[in-house]
Amino acid sequence: MSRIAVFPGSFDPFTNGHYDVVQRGLKIFDEVIIGLGINPNKTRYFDSKLMEEKIVEAFKGNSKVSVKTYSGLTAEFARENQAKYILRGLRNTTDFEYENTISQINRDLFEGLETVFLITSPEYAAVSSSVIREVHKFGKSPDKYLPYKL
Ligand code: ADP
Repeated sequence: MSRIAVFPGSFDPFTNGHYDVVQRGLKIFDEVIIGLGINPNKTRYFDSKLMEEKIVEAFKGNSKVSVKTYSGLTAEFARENQAKYILRGLRNTTDFEYENTISQINRDLFEGLETVFLITSPEYAAVSSSVIREVHKFGKSPDKYLPYKL
């Protein structure tokens, strides 16, 4: 049976740090579905349609990676996609505090749904979507932090 993982996130924008988590996730899973979560109560900086296109571009030619947008519960999204695993990245203790509670709830909602965490590669530890939004907002190109050209 193939091991399918979903990699959920806001990806506003999708960064080299996210790309690295997916590439390393492929050593563990047969397939990774990137789930671009849409929260109707939150305004995005980068349009979700544009971001979906850019992620597709970044993984072009890799049949083991796909991208889907979703709204609602991540556990439900995983269930709909026959994924028994959630893939997440950890940079620091702040990430850990957040991920700790959310992974327990997800396993509660969908029995057996396991979250697998990959510790950030040191070269991407400082790469965050929020910092990239700031760089972009103030007119600098964030391209070196992204696996595609904006
Ligand atoms: P969310 O809004 O759900 O936190 P993000 O798009 O910010 O989504 O991040 C998605 C996942 O990627 C999270 O698990 C986050 O910790 C992880 N992540 C973000 N940046 C990095 C990075 N540079 N290295 C490793 N993991 C990262």
